[in-house]
Order: sequence, then structure tokens, then C-alpha cells
Amino acid sequence: MDNWLTKRATLSPKQTALVYQGQAYSFAQVYEQVRALTQKIATLNLQSQDRVALFGQNSWQMYLNILALQQLNVTLVLLNTRLAANELQDQLADAQVKYCFCDQNQVPENLRAVTNTKILTPKMLQNLANISYQAAELQDSDIASIMYTSGTTGKPKGVIQTYGNHWASAMNTLLNFQVTQQDAWLCVVPLFHISGFSILLRSLIYGIPIYLEPKFSAATCHQLLITQKITIFSVVPTMLQELLAVNPQATPYNSAFRLMFLGGAPSDSQTLQQCQERQIPLVQSYGMTETCSNIVALNPADATRKPGSCGQALFTNQVRISSTGEIQLKSPALAPSYWQNDALFQQKLTPDGWFKTGDVGYLDEQNYLFVQGRSDDMFVSGGENIFPNEIEAVYQQIPAIKEIVVDHQADNKWGAVPIAYLIDDASLTKAQLQAFGRQNLAHYKVPVEFRRISAFPRTGSGKIQRHALAKLSFELL
Ligand code: ATP
Ligand code: MG
Repeated sequence: MDNWLTKRATLSPKQTALVYQGQAYSFAQVYEQVRALTQKIATLNLQSQDRVALFGQNSWQMYLNILALQQLNVTLVLLNTRLAANELQDQLADAQVKYCFCDQNQVPENLRAVTNTKILTPKMLQNLANISYQAAELQDSDIASIMYTSGTTGKPKGVIQTYGNHWASAMNTLLNFQVTQQDAWLCVVPLFHISGFSILLRSLIYGIPIYLEPKFSAATCHQLLITQKITIFSVVPTMLQELLAVNPQATPYNSAFRLMFLGGAPSDSQTLQQCQERQIPLVQSYGMTETCSNIVALNPADATRKPGSCGQALFTNQVRISSTGEIQLKSPALAPSYWQNDALFQQKLTPDGWFKTGDVGYLDEQNYLFVQGRSDDMFVSGGENIFPNEIEAVYQQIPAIKEIVVDHQADNKWGAVPIAYLIDDASLTKAQLQAFGRQNLAHYKVPVEFRRISAFPRTGSGKIQRHALAKLSFELL
């Protein structure tokens, strides 16, 4: 197939591709800039499917770097900018990259500490000579990107994402959301994560603008949603909570706004309820790096009818629940393998070819998926399955609790019992917390201990590492 940007610039050159820092750029303008940059990069003599790492925020330079490297069919290795130097070093070595492009001339500390990889800044790219190049044709099986998973459950895995995978994902989302050229997507989630990267690719495929914001500010996004003709906004639960908090008057967004697209993690029922009360068109979804973004999503019409559900498998996807409760799936958007670790990928496939997600959930009678949590987090107490997520969501309703994470400890009588780690305003007592739990949860789900801590151990992408909780020092309530 034709290169996606080249094709888009031919089909709808005048359509807006990008709005960045208040300025709009058409596909023709973007293409012109990308061509100029690609002529520079072409002097590096990169071959088709060589790997180049990208380090950057949602910036103009990051956007151009992605598109220019795609002109040469180079595989992008997207780095999470929050990783520590040794984590970056591991991923760069694992992916065997030829270069790492940084989006700033001032290379940040963690990247500067990396050895054995040539780092190229925007200035260094500008100083290269120009040579002409042939825009690459793309094959479905070509690797567009390698993206490392969050590492919530162990060492990050390099997910191989082909153009065919991204195409399938974009088509399914198009059908589900009935995207038209009237749509415009606000992209604040990082381009180095599948949530943001998939928005950029959809913009090329659908021919719609993205509003690119360097980082999330609830106040700024709130203003953009009111004043700009943004129709879709991809958020994770914490962003949504902050957006609701900066808008106590429930001021409506611009009249074309039609989808608050939530993914990445479960949402609590209080937030869902608030969105319903304010008539915010919230659509939940489920997916992972391995599936190139969402593979199950609610459709807008069902959003209020099925609160708490992530929806149905999108058109070309299939989801089933195994006898152990695990969510398993088949999809043309599913990565073909992990980079340099096919053995691990094969372990995640059943003999009949379904991908084992490691998440637990159930389907209701109409095939709507409800995600309960990761099987690794689940524990059994007195014969009952307990999902920490559910207990955490209940306790998060207490305003004095800033954050709470539930784990378990061995127990002679019950096998295991829940315990909680929390950060609060120092006002809570164990008696209060247990009383609240008994009112809102089955008794076996109420934590037997509450441990006050000062900070949670997190992965580079900000997810809490439960396996590191047991090592924390704490104050017992
Ligand atoms: P790693 O695989 O390295 O442990 P990770 O699984 O956290 O990291 P991601 O691919 O970013 O890396 O996250 C996908 C996971 O996020 C899913 O497998 C699931 O556990 C969780 N998730 C995604 N959407 C939802 C949702 N709607 N509800 C609950 N959990 C979700
Ligand atoms: Mg995972």
C-alpha cells in the first residue's frame, strides 16, 4: 500500500492535519515539512525496517520525526520519557536501534546517561545535508512500531506492531465510532504510548485533525473542549477525575463534542455516575499494547445503558472467557509476537490460537465485557475470588484518601486476607475505615490492616507496582 502520509496529502491536502500551540497545519503543510526533514534523515543511510528510537513528548518535532521516519519505512521504537537511564538503555539495546532521535536540543538527564546509542537532536538533524529519497511503500507485515509494555507485571516486553495491526485497529474504531471528516481528536495521552500513537495514525487514515497537547493540564483541556471544535477526547481515569473537578458548574463542552473515550484502567463507579449526571458522553474501552489500542469498546449509544462495561469486541475481534475466568482474544490487531522473545509470546497463546491476556472478567448475556482485574492481582479468601480493584474503587470515594492500593497477606484460617496501603490526610482511623468497608462491601473484602505510606512504587508509565508493596515501610492504623 501507499505510504499513509503521502496518500493523505494527495487525497485531502487542504484538510487540517494538526493543531499545535494554537496554530493549524494542513496535510499539505505537514507533508512539506516532513519531506524536508526526510531529506536530511536520508543521509543517515537507514535501510527499510532498521530501528530508530524516539524520545520525546507530544511536540511538533516528535510528530515530524515519527512521520519522516515512516517515509523511509524505518521501525520506530517508542521510548517512555519517564524511564530511568538503565531502563532506557535496556530497551535501546534490546531493539538494536541505529539511532535515538530526541525531540529537544537539550537532552534530558536520563537519556544523556545512556551509552552505546547515538543520540540525534533536532539541531543535529537540521545540520545534515539533503539528499533525495523515494517514499516507501508499506506492506501489512512491515513493523511500524515496537512499543514496550508498562512493566506492571514484570520486565517490559517489546510489542511488535505491524502496519496491518494498526490498520485493523483504526478500521474497527472507525466503525464503532462512525468517524467522519467532521471529527477532531484531542491528543494529550503520550505519542510514545499506544493510546497517543494510534490517534496520530488514525488522523492520517481518516483524514481528521488532531489537537496535540504536550502534557495534560485539566484547565487547558477543559478550555479547549469548550472553545474548539474537538469531538473526541481520549482519557485515562485520573485525567477524567481532574477534568470533572475543574468543572464544578458542569459547563457543557462545544456542541460537536461527542465522545469522552476512556481506557487504560478501570474507572470507579462514582466517576461513571458523575459523567452520567452531567451528560458527558463517556465510552469505556479495553485494550493493551499487544492489541494496538482498544479491541473492546462501548458504542456511544450503549454508554448509559451498560455502565461499568467496556463494551463488545469490535467488528473483526473476538473475545471469550476461559474456564478460569481469563479474558482471551483473537484479532487482526493483535501483535504477531514480542520483539526478540517469541517464546514468551507463544506461551500466551492457547493451542487453538487465542491470546491469553492475563486479565479476568466476564461477559453478560449480551456479550458485553466487564473487566475485573489482572489474574496476578486476584487472590482467594475462604474460597471467594477477590479483586483488589473493586475494594480500591469503593475506598476511593472517601475524600480524605488520596490513594489506596489493596494487597493480601497469608492467613491460617482463610488462606489469604486483604490488606490496604494508603496515602491520606492523616485523619483516618482503622475503626472508621473498617466500618465504611462493612457498609459498602462484602465482609470478607474489608481489609484487616490499613498501612499508611508516603509514596507508591511505580513503573515508568506511572502504574503502581503491586509486587513491590511488601517492601515498603509503613505506619499501621
Ligand atoms: P505489562 O504487560 O508490562 O505488565 P501493562 O499490561 O500494564 O504492562 P499496558 O499494555 O499499557 O501494559 O496495559 C494493558 C492492561 O491495562 C490490560 O491488560 C489491563 O490489565 C489494563 N486495562 C486496560 N483497559 C482496562 C479497563 N478498561 N479496565 C480494566 N483494566 C484495563
Ligand atoms: Mg500487559
